[in-house]
Amino acid sequence: MRVAIIGAGSAGLAALRQCMLHLNTSNRVQDDCRITEVICYEKTDKIGGTWVYIPETGVDRYGLPIHSSMYDNLRSNLPKEVMGYPDFPIDENIPKSYLTRTEILDFLNRYCDHFQLRPCIRFLHNVELIEPLSKDPGAVAAEANQWTVKVKDLESGTTSNEIFDKIMVCNGHYFQPNLPIIQGQDQFKGLQIHSHDYRVPDTFANKIVVVVGAGPSGMDLALDISKTADKVILSHHNREPINTVFPDNVIQVKDIIKLDDKKAHFADGRIENADVIFYCTGYKYSFPFLAESCGVRVDSNMVTPLWKHLISIENPSLAFIGLPFYVCAFSMCDLQVRFVLKFWLEPNKLPEKSTMRAEEAAEFAQKKQKGLLKQHFHMMGPEQGKYYDDLANTAGITSLPPVLTKLHDDSSMRFLDDLTHYREDRYKIVDDFNYIKL
Ligand SMILES: Cc1cc2nc3c(=O)[nH]c(=O)nc-3n(C[C@H](O)[C@H](O)[C@H](O)COP(=O)(O)OP(=O)(O)OC[C@H]3O[C@@H](n4cnc5c(N)ncnc54)[C@H](O)[C@@H]3O)c2cc1C
Repeated sequence: MRVAIIGAGSAGLAALRQCMLHLNTSNRVQDDCRITEVICYEKTDKIGGTWVYIPETGVDRYGLPIHSSMYDNLRSNLPKEVMGYPDFPIDENIPKSYLTRTEILDFLNRYCDHFQLRPCIRFLHNVELIEPLSKDPGAVAAEANQWTVKVKDLESGTTSNEIFDKIMVCNGHYFQPNLPIIQGQDQFKGLQIHSHDYRVPDTFANKIVVVVGAGPSGMDLALDISKTADKVILSHHNREPINTVFPDNVIQVKDIIKLDDKKAHFADGRIENADVIFYCTGYKYSFPFLAESCGVRVDSNMVTPLWKHLISIENPSLAFIGLPFYVCAFSMCDLQVRFVLKFWLEPNKLPEKSTMRAEEAAEFAQKKQKGLLKQHFHMMGPEQGKYYDDLANTAGITSLPPVLTKLHDDSSMRFLDDLTHYREDRYKIVDDFNYIKL
């Protein structure tokens, strides 16, 4: 079995690491279920994806959109104790819990080199198209047994078609901006920018900035730009004001409803002068290289139909690693890959498609009952522990220790309570269930 991995961010590296463990080892049940080759295609010249800081915005030297949304001052919003991989934690001797972007990227490079993953990565190779291999192009493919992957070698400019048996899509989901439509947007004379293109606070020096959206990144970025901006107007639709201590030049207002050439109008009737509208409105899942015939679509930002947010129900030889958010991402990806491999290496264990569809529908119905929309389907947060245990129990593999979820919850609470200081907290994991605050 030839496996293609798309992307060498933290998810792609976990995929590569776990696939390598199974390279040329027979599963004894079916000898043809052996991984014989793994290739990871990465369109940039570095591993790390999101964690690679690129000062430029727009397109790169090959004309491709810049992938990373990393900004200069970023420190992780989760403690290092929950950001490692199960078999490769972040060095506990680093005397702080919240690391800089450089420290996280260094960690990913160490992981990559420790497990000797680099030789399997084809850098500067952009995957342009994935489609089921069909001998008769007119035929409606039943279930894809093999895939054609069209790849462009960016340095030489040549394109080739490679055949694979299995695909793990690890292309990330923080690169395609989700931009709201606001009345008068085209009349506004100031700057409008999405957080994907934010790099340094100097951009906003002495400006009046309206930050649209108060998710974790909106709050963090409001804080970052407040260092140089004259005034930061944080606009959101939370029912109550966010109960944290912001710097004095940050105010909270209701939803933005209209722009004119110089001013922003808000839902409570307030009108403010503005130099910049800074959209911290999140990202859309996007798989520009997936042909429709792959059988997976993005519907109102829900990737579907998938079994357990992960395996294509129509074509189970296609998997998506890292879709859930508000999770312990690196460890979750490791678990997801182990889950996928369990079913790829023992294919007869997969449930019927109807069962998988019913599971997805039931989970969606449950979330809908709680008032959640399709766009929240992959959000885990407090549900993450259940998700990890479900994956582990279903596949008969080791779950993630509950201490990760507990610590993640504590950190999220502290983020909300004390945005300006929570990164000074230090933690130590004591065992699979307990941590202490130092
Ligand atoms: C600003 C910001 C801050 C964050 N902070 C945290 C944090 O503190 N803690 C945390 O746990 N998470 C954080 N995250 C989430 C973070 O993105 C994930 O933790 C994780 O790094 C995502 O890894 P990934 O491999 O899924 O995707 P990515 O890191 O996006 O990697 C995807 C890779 O795929 C490659 N690729 C894409 N398309 C193609 C193609 N067609 N062909 C070939 N290669 C392709 C890209 O070049 C990239 O290298 C943050 C995200 C952002 C944007």
